[in-house]
Amino acid sequence: MKLIFEYSRPGKEGFHIEEEKGRETIPQELLRGEIEELPEVSEREVVSHYLRLSVMNYSVDWGFYPLGSCTMKYNPKVNEAIASYFTDAHPLLPEELVQGYLKIFKELEEALREITGLYAFTLAPSAGAHGEFTGIITIRNYLEDHGEKREIVLIPDSAHGTNPASATLAGYRAVEIPSDDKGMIDLDKFKEALNERVAALMITNPNTLGIFEAKIREIADLLHKAGAFLYMDGANMNALLGQVKVADLGVDVIHLNLHKTFSTPHGGGGPGSGPVGVVEKLAPYLPGPHLEEGEGILRWKNGRGRIRSFFGNFLVLVKALAYIRELGGEGLREVSEVAVLNSRYLRRKLEGKFKIAYPTETLHEFVLSDETFRDRISTLDLAKRLLDYGFHPPTIYFPLIVHGALMVEPTETESKETLDEFASAMEKILEEAEENPEIVKTAPHKTPVGRLNEVEAARRPILTWQEYLKTSG
Ligand SMILES: *Cc1c(COP(=O)(O)O)cnc(C)c1O
Repeated sequence: MKLIFEYSRPGKEGFHIEEEKGRETIPQELLRGEIEELPEVSEREVVSHYLRLSVMNYSVDWGFYPLGSCTMKYNPKVNEAIASYFTDAHPLLPEELVQGYLKIFKELEEALREITGLYAFTLAPSAGAHGEFTGIITIRNYLEDHGEKREIVLIPDSAHGTNPASATLAGYRAVEIPSDDKGMIDLDKFKEALNERVAALMITNPNTLGIFEAKIREIADLLHKAGAFLYMDGANMNALLGQVKVADLGVDVIHLNLHKTFSTPHGGGGPGSGPVGVVEKLAPYLPGPHLEEGEGILRWKNGRGRIRSFFGNFLVLVKALAYIRELGGEGLREVSEVAVLNSRYLRRKLEGKFKIAYPTETLHEFVLSDETFRDRISTLDLAKRLLDYGFHPPTIYFPLIVHGALMVEPTETESKETLDEFASAMEKILEEAEENPEIVKTAPHKTPVGRLNEVEAARRPILTWQEYLKTSG
């Protein structure tokens, strides 16, 4: 194998990088000889092309983006600037040369421990779903080492689809627990389902209806008594920042979505980060690597297996730490207070004309059903028409337990004027549905691309430019 990089230090172990094995095993006929000629375009044409594309799309910087559960808040540009200072280090550099970088990992871990009250964190997972998988694997590692054969993970019916998917991937059977008429986990049904075969309950708090699971402490005690764990999906931390340490609620494992709560816009499938925090007794079972300090130097140490290469989506971690340090404890507390205030304000504005899914008071988001308009227009129609009014629509048809759901999360970064304008657009669309439903059903009319045929797109996807040329003539 060819050596492509070598680093050595006098009297110490060096390291080297070898050419990847894979390159040599690609069959000859698949290797490209000469690169085909690229089209000749001027810089001016390239800039115009990409600038035009960039303004055809909607983004968090463009305007209100109340996509429930996703926390599409405005992200301060200073965090991007700070992250841009840290793009140079190769992940294979020896620890001695990147102590500053490792300190960022360490400080962020400490901050997340402080925010949640949990004992240890891994910053490795690349997304919320990846964190869920990591957290459930940690629980599985613990149970297996203690000779326990548990095969069930309980999940409320209001949960995000990634919860049952992660539990299944980790080798468990996902069993659904219904919600009660308050929109919280049904405590009696939960007690019925709890037995010695249950490894964990995955709870989202506040749940995807925006409702705080008020019985979480009692639920945690019941789980612990049965030898099971409480996993909390922390995607909705924007409602709890600085208000409560989840460890005090009896939570054993949590994942946080740094790309939702802690700066880094995540629309369009950009990089994410889903750190996982655990209580002390689970810490040895957490996948690695972990940082260890000795003789004044930080070093990576193996954990219980790994769930990705290298150490995590580093620049997302930098942005999260920058955000936390800028705001401080008081600032983070204000984030959740204003996020909840904005959401409740908007809910009150819409309550008269729209049906709120459950009567219970909500925190940072709320869910409308289609009850007041379903005989004239669909939830999808309403969402598409919002685009014509210059708003990104809320999340639609989720959670599944609400008919024609519209899940609205305004976040703390919006002004009262924006919330008022959004509320008037929603009401205006209701009026249009009465007077001229056709304009709503055929929306959007003002966007670069009209209504897509979603059924056709799913059944007969056009995935190459050759197919595209064929269909567009
Ligand atoms: C976003 C979200 C997830 C999944 O997080 P990803 O980073 O998208 O993988 C899980 N649960 C809830 C409640 C979420 O909102």
